[in-house]
Amino acid sequence: MPEQAIKAPLAGWVTPLSELEDPVFAGLVLGDGVAIDPVESTLRAPCDGIVTMLHRAHHALTLRTADGADILMHIGLDTVALGGTGFTPHVAVGQQVRTGEALISFDVALLAGRAKSLVSPVIVTAGDRSFTVADRVLGREVTAGDILFTLIAATAAATAAPAPEAGAQVARDVVLRIPTGLHARPAGIVSAAARGYQAEIAIALRDARANARSAVSLMGLGAQAGDILTLTARGPDAAAAVEAIATLLAEGHEASGPAPSHAAPPAVAPPLAVPEPPVPSPAAPFEPGTEQALSGVPAVPGRAVGTAFPLRAERVEVEEHGAGPDTERQRLRQALTKSQGDLQAEIGRSPAGSQQGEILQAHLAFVEDPDLAEAADAAITAGKSAGFAWNGAIDRQIDVLRGLGIDRMAERTDDLRDVSRRVLQALSGKAQEAIVLPPRAVLLADDLLPSQLATLPATDIAGIALARGGRTSHVAIMAGSLGIPTLVAVGPGLARVPEGAPVILDAEAGTLRVFPAAGTLVQMEASVTAARERSAAQLRAAHEDCRLADGTRIEVVANLGGEADIPEALARGAEGCGLLRSEFLFLDRVTAPSEDVQHATYQRIADGLQGRPLIIRTLDAGADKQLPYLDLPHEENPALGLRGVRVGLWRPELLRAQFRAILRVRPPGQCRIMLPMIALLEEIRAARALFEEVRQELGHTDPVQLGIMVEVPSAALMATTLAAEADFFSIGSNDLTQYALAMDRVNPLLARQLDGLHPAVLRLIAMTCEGASRHARWVGVCGGIASVPRAAPVLVGLGVTELSATAAAIPAVKALLRGLTREDCVRVAQQALAQDSAEAVHRLLAQTWPEA
Ligand code: PEP
Ligand code: MG
Repeated sequence: MPEQAIKAPLAGWVTPLSELEDPVFAGLVLGDGVAIDPVESTLRAPCDGIVTMLHRAHHALTLRTADGADILMHIGLDTVALGGTGFTPHVAVGQQVRTGEALISFDVALLAGRAKSLVSPVIVTAGDRSFTVADRVLGREVTAGDILFTLIAATAAATAAPAPEAGAQVARDVVLRIPTGLHARPAGIVSAAARGYQAEIAIALRDARANARSAVSLMGLGAQAGDILTLTARGPDAAAAVEAIATLLAEGHEASGPAPSHAAPPAVAPPLAVPEPPVPSPAAPFEPGTEQALSGVPAVPGRAVGTAFPLRAERVEVEEHGAGPDTERQRLRQALTKSQGDLQAEIGRSPAGSQQGEILQAHLAFVEDPDLAEAADAAITAGKSAGFAWNGAIDRQIDVLRGLGIDRMAERTDDLRDVSRRVLQALSGKAQEAIVLPPRAVLLADDLLPSQLATLPATDIAGIALARGGRTSHVAIMAGSLGIPTLVAVGPGLARVPEGAPVILDAEAGTLRVFPAAGTLVQMEASVTAARERSAAQLRAAHEDCRLADGTRIEVVANLGGEADIPEALARGAEGCGLLRSEFLFLDRVTAPSEDVQHATYQRIADGLQGRPLIIRTLDAGADKQLPYLDLPHEENPALGLRGVRVGLWRPELLRAQFRAILRVRPPGQCRIMLPMIALLEEIRAARALFEEVRQELGHTDPVQLGIMVEVPSAALMATTLAAEADFFSIGSNDLTQYALAMDRVNPLLARQLDGLHPAVLRLIAMTCEGASRHARWVGVCGGIASVPRAAPVLVGLGVTELSATAAAIPAVKALLRGLTREDCVRVAQQALAQDSAEAVHRLLAQTWPEA
């Protein structure tokens, strides 16, 4: 098809690209075409074709014609910065569309107010084959569907480029500093620069590789700020080409307009140098007769006696090469639709508001993710099979998450693998075989995926031990909500446990005992049964307020990470919330939540707690909780940099909006406010000044407690001084331990030594309580040690009167405290302070309360 009419995708006034206030489009850097100043709000297909790119911000889309031309439609100028607000896509990458079909709807009023311009370029991007734009309509009004221009394909001979001279390959890595990633305009600049050299230049991001001369191919990399890109070039001017392109990528300027005034986002650290547990070794299975003990990290506390049931991951084999792009595209579309339907059905079956439902919702989002579809489509176009392409797209995302070096993100790779497996299964067309578990099965797996766990009968599972896995992975969270004791990171030795072996899983001590002696088994079984009965009794009593045996009131409240945690917390006897980690509202977004959005959420949480106290911690961003839109400057040591309250003071508009949102919650006294990571007196003063300003603005006169977290040694050491200005203290033992012991809390190599019961940490807690008492302030603990039942009496003995724990720990914490007087607690606290190591403290507590 040498010539093709391209229709207007929008009604409006057509102008030449040269008149645009954007040097990239005006300079035809991305390609030739026209621009339309729209008078309607739906972008339509200008010809038949396949959607090959839908930008994650939903403002731009590329359609490939049957002849291989790429038509890029870009709604407005600089609209990538809206991060998707105001755009509703109606198509997905890989979808075949007909002329006139709706592609994207947009909110004209919103764009008119927030975008630089509504004028929308429609251009033929420079690809591997050349096309000429002819007979273009200019300087008049069109309605959608009118002919806009004619596309003429150049002959192969005319487009054949001279082969560059062979030469040595030049390569270098560069960190992408363009804040909004390699989107249309920077990709255009880079490709134009690449076309100025004879060398063939490729840019690779993990396993994806793009031809640097093709803007569409570069966009298809999905490269984000902070990604490490590898440039390779071969040809006579390879070295100069690589230098020039690397400079463009590393300088971080947007293609037009002034460079952003803020600093470039931090470079992404290379993946954590955590050795992946080796693939299970084929070492001989353990034999009956000799007890073997493996150790792991407890993820869900509890003990179980049962029968080993190794769960082998079912591998779905995929062919690399497909039966042609059209067939493979169709297969992938069908598999995605099936997976979507299955997930929706599973979501429908999971209890409303349950964590399981939320996890499945996240999986549904992956199945519907346009970037994944786009990446898979690119591989299919290159001749790969649907399964291979989908797997590759997922692997790339897994690399991205791992590359962030953030545990929370790395643990989400399980979910991606799970979605990968689900879609591959759908592609294979085979139904999954049902697994029949023995009674009291202790599941053993290299790693378990959330959907695998969801399909097994929970009542038959006594425990779970995983060779890999993370303490906060979704599968651990699901196991926690099902009450299944779970050990993670047991290592490759787990593969040596044979099916049917009797095992004792102790997710308190962190051990898996294989082939224990018969006597031990009997003893352990009795103790597990007694423990089960004990926890049932503890749960029955959990709804009473907590008082020591001498009547001293100790509040036992819950840590909440969001609204969804409330039902579980109340069911376990939480007397309120001692720490609402407000980050949940700020994560996974492209801009900060507005005051109104925050207010509505806090109000719902306050209502959900039915009048119980609610302590909202202001945003604790930075370090392991990065929010790209905050544009925090690059730091060598982010844990020691701009984080916690420092971020709020650095960007006071954020803190102000959060204070306003909290102060507007009704009834007025229910919420208290807590500032994270206070290290200096000046920080409380600055935050309080802002708080008082906001109170005056709102005419808020009711008393509201403004407290601080004590999680930096300086705060504990200066507790008397700080107590004069803070209404209460809550000890963040996770960070306090990290900073006291100088051990990174996300470094798995130090996980075993990072212990909040270390006497050094206990002494800091004692100092905090002592300082608080001078000004009659109350002290709580909301870090991890508040959820260790045996630690509760020690903390109370040091002067703590509020414990904010995970929901699961509340019944046991209350039960232990109820049997003790304040005097008992003080005695054990003094003994703990006198120990010389965390291990010794644990020993002391285990001897004192062996059952707890
Ligand atoms: C802590 O540091 O103990 C704490 C509760 O805060 P986070 O774990 O959210 O940093
Ligand atoms: Mg903390």
